[in-house]
Amino acid sequence: MPAPLPEPAETPSTLTPAAELDRATAALAATAADIRARGERAGGTAHDVLEAQAFMAEDPTLADDVEARVQGGLTAERAVFEAFAGFRDLLVSMGGYMAERATDLNDVSQRVVANLQGVPAPGIPDPDFAFVLVARDLAPADTALLDLDKVLALITSEGGPTSHTAILARDKAIVAVVGAAGALELADGETVIVDAAAGSVTASPSADDIAAAQQTLAERKARPSAPTGAGRLADGTAVPLLANLGSADAAADAVGKGAEGVGLFRTEFLFLDSTAAPTVEAQQEQYTKLLAAFPGKKVVVRALDAGADKPLSFLNDADEENPALGLRGLRALRANEQILRDQLTALANADAVTDADLWVMAPMVSTVEETRYFTALGRELGLKTLGVMVEVPSAALLADRILADADFASIGTNDLTQYTLAADRLLGSVAAFQDPWHPAVLRLVGDVGRAGQALDKPVGVCGEAAADPLLAVVLVGLGVTSLSMSPAALADVRAELALYTLEQAQHYATLALAANSAFEARAAVLEAQTHPSSTDPSSTDPSSTHPRNTHPRSSHAHEGDRP
Ligand code: PEP
Ligand code: MG
Repeated sequence: MPAPLPEPAETPSTLTPAAELDRATAALAATAADIRARGERAGGTAHDVLEAQAFMAEDPTLADDVEARVQGGLTAERAVFEAFAGFRDLLVSMGGYMAERATDLNDVSQRVVANLQGVPAPGIPDPDFAFVLVARDLAPADTALLDLDKVLALITSEGGPTSHTAILARDKAIVAVVGAAGALELADGETVIVDAAAGSVTASPSADDIAAAQQTLAERKARPSAPTGAGRLADGTAVPLLANLGSADAAADAVGKGAEGVGLFRTEFLFLDSTAAPTVEAQQEQYTKLLAAFPGKKVVVRALDAGADKPLSFLNDADEENPALGLRGLRALRANEQILRDQLTALANADAVTDADLWVMAPMVSTVEETRYFTALGRELGLKTLGVMVEVPSAALLADRILADADFASIGTNDLTQYTLAADRLLGSVAAFQDPWHPAVLRLVGDVGRAGQALDKPVGVCGEAAADPLLAVVLVGLGVTSLSMSPAALADVRAELALYTLEQAQHYATLALAANSAFEARAAVLEAQTHPSSTDPSSTDPSSTHPRNTHPRSSHAHEGDRP
């Protein structure tokens, strides 16, 4: 993906001002036309955003400014750069909504300059053939807008498996390998094999490699689809299996894969490229569409979770040094209470006209007081079932008090792991710490599970940990009552759960908790699964058909995951 262009040099033009003006005018018009065409192809919200950008390139005041600068002897490139920069500074000084347009102006400016220089525009390329996109990282908003007819696969050098780029890629069923070391050394035009299941990228593959990959692909396509049905353990204990969704459009696919409802609807994914807070009506339309797809089923919607790699400028546009520890999640909503009220109102309105069982939860809750604030506000606005996400260690440690007030808890293991191990989930260099098998994380999950049992309140897991079949068994053993994951993972988790009784799951949980590291925890459970000892309930249960490890997606102990 082309990097941002350097600032054009201030060297005086060697052409006449009239010639420079012609160049600038042509580049502005071509850029406007290009942006408009991309908007028409993308449709939806992207269309509106790109249409607004096209108008910027056609703005007559800006054109006058460019003309004045080329008359003063500047090159078209420099004149465009300076005129856009002046415009941007003006918007920033106006603050609020106008200031939010500043980033868009930078993007348009770069596109005009790229056109003048005859180089590819920065950002996602748009050739007229299918390609594998290689980037350092991709903003979630860019990932959401990828043209899936063109982008065959995505490789990034940064980001861990729980970064939102990875989550969105899974949500959109894009073949993706994130945090691939050496990705940026791939040359333009090089052939690559991208295997998302194995997390591997093979550069310049041999004819044999290609044949083997094609064979694997054919085998995967021919595999019979796993049975659907309700999630349950071997002893019949129900463990509802729910879907993580980022848009109502994905509902039909989730239902087809056997989702028993929705365990996490990430509302911020709907508004990642919005520069202004969404209206009650716009939200209500989306939520009604979602709820209507799950009549009689549980649907857990999360209030807007802005922050870190999911910036929503209308909620917090401060330049924070540590955004993961900043004004994010519920904190940002509280600082903009009207936005939260509008969202909860839109949800209550959608609930009133549909038959789903709507639950609403707050993201990034870290105190009992925040729990009380959110549940009181939700009840005031007519919502019936209100809960919190447990993603911060403080919330897990005080789960008994939080659950005394909240109707349910949903554990976000992605952030809980990030905060427990102090390892940024976006940073490739610390990705090995981002392992929810870590006993410190599991101990916190167990605390929440116990609190839920004591108070008879449901405790779900909606982080990526729920999608790891063997870890899913451990989570149930820790007291988790439902699991939510990207729909593609449902079949494997369903099949794995059906192999164990609750007693066995609890035994595995005890083994994992007793380990010193994620590596040891995983290894201990794998070992017990393969060689049950006399202390393993599976070896004394005459009805048992265990142990089995038939699912390649079950985590294998990796030598490399030492932390
Ligand atoms: C989590 O943190 O585990 C979670 C489910 O929320 P998100 O990944 O959207 O931060
Ligand atoms: Mg989270």
